[in-house]
Amino acid sequence: MKIMVALKRVIDYAVKIRVKPDKSGVETSNVKMSMNPFCEIALEEALRIKESGLASEVIAVSMGPAQCVDTLRTGLAMGADRAIHVDTSSTLYPLSVAKLLKALVDTEKPGLLILGKQAIDDDCNQTGQMLAGLLNWPQGTFASKVVLDKEKQVATVDREVDGGLETLCLDLPAVITTDLRLNQPRYATLPNIMKAKSKVIKKVTPAELKVEIKSDMEIVEVTEPPKRKAGVIVSSVDELIDKLKNEAHVI
Ligand code: AMP
Repeated sequence: MKIMVALKRVIDYAVKIRVKPDKSGVETSNVKMSMNPFCEIALEEALRIKESGLASEVIAVSMGPAQCVDTLRTGLAMGADRAIHVDTSSTLYPLSVAKLLKALVDTEKPGLLILGKQAIDDDCNQTGQMLAGLLNWPQGTFASKVVLDKEKQVATVDREVDGGLETLCLDLPAVITTDLRLNQPRYATLPNIMKAKSKVIKKVTPAELKVEIKSDMEIVEVTEPPKRKAGVIVSSVDELIDKLKNEAHVI
């Protein structure tokens, strides 16, 4: 069984985000970019499944400009077997990414797709769900534990939901999206970084996949969140209750 993993290149989680002066988006030039942390977890899970003998190949996929190849090289250095770069300079929204991934699934025929639960740049949390819908495959989102049964061809997934954990049994092929507690991703070792240089990264275009990149959504304006006001220190519990009742009106 092949596992396909979607790796998004995003602004590094440690970078302080700056909004562009024209409010059209956030500043990405001269900013450190990295693999989306939830995608690292997705790749780690795929590698562990392969290492336990339940998968034969891990294919990493990334969509976007030429620099996505750096993200794919990191994925190959972590242990992915090969990679596919869908080369486009168009703005990609989740539905387009899901359509591109579906087109790749149609040719690669993986038995399992693992995505991050969300990309930390747009925080959409939509791609995995849309992809499962397009493929008509079962989905286990926000996974904190994944157990595969090769004989029965099912994946048992613990999901992090508001009330606690929900356990689902999915028939394969299926789509899984990863939550933070699923695993601790490995670092790429130097020998593996060297080995990754000779691994194959195939380049395809949306046109070759017969997917038209368009969106019904338009970003009107991007602004910084309002600054939080400084807090006050109250001298007694009675004063706190009074403020909550008469100023904040929350009790
Ligand atoms: P989102 O729905 O945008 O929050 O993204 C959820 C997940 O979809 C990410 O963690 C990735 O696994 C995948 N994904 C979204 N956009 C891309 C992209 N441009 N390239 C590769 N994977 C992507």
